[in-house]
Amino acid sequence: MIYTFCPRCGAPLAAGVRFGRVRRLCLYCGFIHFTDPKVAVAALISDGARVLLVRRAAIPQIGFWALPAGYMDADELPEEALVREIAEETGLLVRVAPPVHAIAPLAGWAERRGILLLYRAEPVGGTMAAGDDVSEVRWFSREEIPWAELAFESTAEFVREWVALAASTSVTGPGRSSRIPV
Ligand SMILES: [Zn+2]
Repeated sequence: MIYTFCPRCGAPLAAGVRFGRVRRLCLYCGFIHFTDPKVAVAALISDGARVLLVRRAAIPQIGFWALPAGYMDADELPEEALVREIAEETGLLVRVAPPVHAIAPLAGWAERRGILLLYRAEPVGGTMAAGDDVSEVRWFSREEIPWAELAFESTAEFVREWVALAASTSVTGPGRSSRIPV
């Protein structure tokens, strides 16, 4: 967002170099507009055998499958934002594990808008129901992943990683049994 007027005192903003680059600033009250990056959080939620995906009902990539995700508010910790967003989108309560990736830029934006923090999480309660900007919530086994309908390259990357990990740790799945010498 580009401000025309000072959000603090209402005076017209000027432009000037502050802290190494041109920024919008107020010559009356001293306000400087820092264009803070957005911080998004996403979770790869697994029950051990399946991964949870949500079908997007908001731009960009409407109708495609993605990880539950959302933007962090300034008064939240990332883990709090994640628990809130997952409850809104899926109805599930989750336990969040430490972050596994921090990637930039955010997918889906033309400009370099911010960073995405990816966590792993597991369901601990709640009742699954699509909400907020999601039209469907579904568990997918490794064989059911809708590869051609994943929303973002990062979604595919994270799901591929989960599939590889699930294959290497499963004792009963086809990924492991196919490599057990008999
Ligand atoms: Zn001002």
